[in-house]
Amino acid sequence: MYQPNRSLLFILILIIFGSFACAFVLQKDSSEQSQRSNAHITNTPNPNQFISISDIHFNPFFDTSLVKQLIAADMLQWEGILQATTGFGTFNRHAPSFDSPYPLFKSALVELKKLKPNPDFITISGDFLCHDFQSTFQSISGLKDQQSLYDFSSKTIAFIGHMIHKTFPKAPIFPTLGNNDAFCGDYNLQANGPFLDSMTHSWSKYVNHGKVKSTFTTDFPTYGNYIADLPGTNNRIIGLNTIFFSSSIGWHSPYFCTVAKAPADEVLSWLGKALRNSKGKNVWLLYHIPPGINTFNSDQIPAHSPDSCSVVKGVASLFMTSDANNRLVDTIAKYGAANIIKANLAGHSHMNEFRIIYDDQNIPQSFIHISPSISPINSNNPAVAIYTYDKNSTFQITNTETWYFQGVQNPGHNVWVKEFDFSQYGVSAMTAGSMQKIYEKIQSDYSTRQLYMNNYYSSRNTRLIQENQERALECAISQMTVHGYDDCYCNSK
Ligand SMILES: [Zn+2]
Repeated sequence: MYQPNRSLLFILILIIFGSFACAFVLQKDSSEQSQRSNAHITNTPNPNQFISISDIHFNPFFDTSLVKQLIAADMLQWEGILQATTGFGTFNRHAPSFDSPYPLFKSALVELKKLKPNPDFITISGDFLCHDFQSTFQSISGLKDQQSLYDFSSKTIAFIGHMIHKTFPKAPIFPTLGNNDAFCGDYNLQANGPFLDSMTHSWSKYVNHGKVKSTFTTDFPTYGNYIADLPGTNNRIIGLNTIFFSSSIGWHSPYFCTVAKAPADEVLSWLGKALRNSKGKNVWLLYHIPPGINTFNSDQIPAHSPDSCSVVKGVASLFMTSDANNRLVDTIAKYGAANIIKANLAGHSHMNEFRIIYDDQNIPQSFIHISPSISPINSNNPAVAIYTYDKNSTFQITNTETWYFQGVQNPGHNVWVKEFDFSQYGVSAMTAGSMQKIYEKIQSDYSTRQLYMNNYYSSRNTRLIQENQERALECAISQMTVHGYDDCYCNSK
């Protein structure tokens, strides 16, 4: 009901305010036209937009009968081979039929191409490889040697880049690493290691595309970080590898690797230097694991009640070590206050959510937007996002729109549906201040809270968070420490 009314209003305004505007709109191709009328972005005729993809978790093992062919083939032949895959995935968590099979990944790219044929650029918030990549490879292929595993992992990473670039040949692609992106297993990336070398080799051409100037080739092989300057502007994207900040480093047994101490201090120093050298720039930080509360755990808490407080106190945890978490939060608050950091883009939770970063005086200084995942493994629908931003002055993000895929919860109904538009929260830009307003509205207004909770799982038809559990997700928006989170949860109605 809402969308057609807004579209009609848009058309009416165009008719009233002159033939010039109508003529302009008529020149646009039909896909752009339908996208804009869907999108409610009526204030700018040709908005600057980029595509955000997160947590692809591409699964080349989904059709186990194809794996031997994929091992033998060049990466450029994979598309032809993988076309034999059927199925778009399930909410299942068991190998090999989990995460994103080829038809789901391809369908996301086809939809995005229809929605935004020429985005300014594409960001990927990490987790390219499917879960349990290494053990699944070994059990299906029967190959237990290091070289076979490393070659297959490299080909998968290269294939994902190749497919995105083939769909959007004009757009630079800015990646950041997820915890699954390693030769040695989940949370087992090696600094200065062969995985970083391999990805630098296959991906530098996508980052350094057009007139983008970046440090990808020189910086990425060390810790997986880089700086990319967007042409003709003061706009800068800093790709930050936050995996070494994780409290889960070294959980899983490594494959042919010795696990060294995670170089968290070194990555934080690198970031400090990159930001000190960003005076006069508008910066976005792009990373996978965000600082703040791990809602994978805390959303399993019991219904909110005075009794549940003590349970929450034992359950809530950070994604990162508290040292890395606090130092990163302080850095973001400082450079947010200095008007250098304009946004943080993250992934990892697979949910469509946001977090706010405050300074010591509890003033909101920055925000993190977490893009929803393509993989349905966390019981969310697959989703993709298109962001609108101010390219020429502030580099502020003005809107985020999401589309979700219906074919996992409703097999056979393989279509993407417009879900949500940030302007539905009544804000015209995404800033620390406007996100704070939305946060307040989520707490005080029932329908705003339901909008957030529905989008959280990308419109799952089954309600996964009950109303009496919602407080656990609300507090995650505003709290960056376990202590603060416990207080928020326990000292509320
Ligand atoms: Zn993930």
